[in-house]
Amino acid sequence: MKAAAAAEVDALLVTHMPDVRYLTGFTGSSAALAIAGGKAVLFTDGRYRTQAKAEVKGLRVVVEQKAAATLAVEWLVASDVARCGFDSGQMSVAALERVRKSVPGARRRSFFVAVEGLVAKLREVKDSDEIARMKKAAALGCKLFEDVLEFVVAGVPEAEVAAHLEFKARMAGAEAMSFETIVAGGARSALPHGKASAAKLPRRGFCTMDFGVVLDGYCSDMTRTVHLGKPDQREWDVYHSVLEAQKAAIRAVRAGVTCADVDEAARSVLREAKLDKYFSHSTGHGVGLEIHEGPRVATKQMQRLEPGMVITIEPGVYLPEEFGIRIEDMVLVTRDGGEVLTAASPKAWMQL
Ligand code: ZN
Ligand code: ZN
Repeated sequence: MKAAAAAEVDALLVTHMPDVRYLTGFTGSSAALAIAGGKAVLFTDGRYRTQAKAEVKGLRVVVEQKAAATLAVEWLVASDVARCGFDSGQMSVAALERVRKSVPGARRRSFFVAVEGLVAKLREVKDSDEIARMKKAAALGCKLFEDVLEFVVAGVPEAEVAAHLEFKARMAGAEAMSFETIVAGGARSALPHGKASAAKLPRRGFCTMDFGVVLDGYCSDMTRTVHLGKPDQREWDVYHSVLEAQKAAIRAVRAGVTCADVDEAARSVLREAKLDKYFSHSTGHGVGLEIHEGPRVATKQMQRLEPGMVITIEPGVYLPEEFGIRIEDMVLVTRDGGEVLTAASPKAWMQL
């Protein structure tokens, strides 16, 4: 509640499920958490009665057949709360309007105070238990990459490569994929978000695979780009520029360094190679219960890295209609550097 006090509110309404999970351990898909006066109550509906009681410890759980957020606001009103913070980045205008109706007229005007990313901020720094889970998720990602290589063959549809990868992920205990698996071959590798399609892998050319698993609630995220057949000089050169940029950014990771500095470490290598204008996205992002979290590793981001943050480092170069290359690792920020969690997957030039 220290964060809440700083935002000048005396209560909090949490409705974003990854935030609810982070604070309570509840993994269901519908609930609301109300925090006020040193007390916290989790509201959910009948579908989650057994699950909520099993997962949530040291917290009151109320199960009722009514919208959880409405129940939470009714409880906050009854608890004499004057100003309640809600995450304006996570709650829609319509959802806010719905719950406002539960606040008596005289108190309604000043009741809700928009605060952005209060819980998201806490989630940026992982504790040892979370780090252990993230290491397992990252390790599973590396194992899947190794296993899927036998299917990365000319003529095989991208979707089939993704299917093998996803099947093995589920068999290994993954709850889901972190996001739609990207397998992009040949000229399609120039699409930064080329999700696996019916297109067949080329006889000669790159194949970019960007994927992640959700294991024990936590996401992994990694990208490797391999080459089928013999490369030409340009393909070889661009690959090595991206690899150098990626390694430079990883070397820049350390507690206290700004995200902009890490981004610049990658970008300057590509600038030197006259490829920076083809690097069309940011260098990385935080990852955890969600695939995209804070901090943003991008230009002008003055936020400083802290020990326990887990970020991705994923520069890429995309030459329209020719080819694209991206290399992505997950990196745990430590006091004096960065620990690559996906180091088990080689990223040196790989020719299949
Ligand atoms: Zn990725
Ligand atoms: Zn990523």
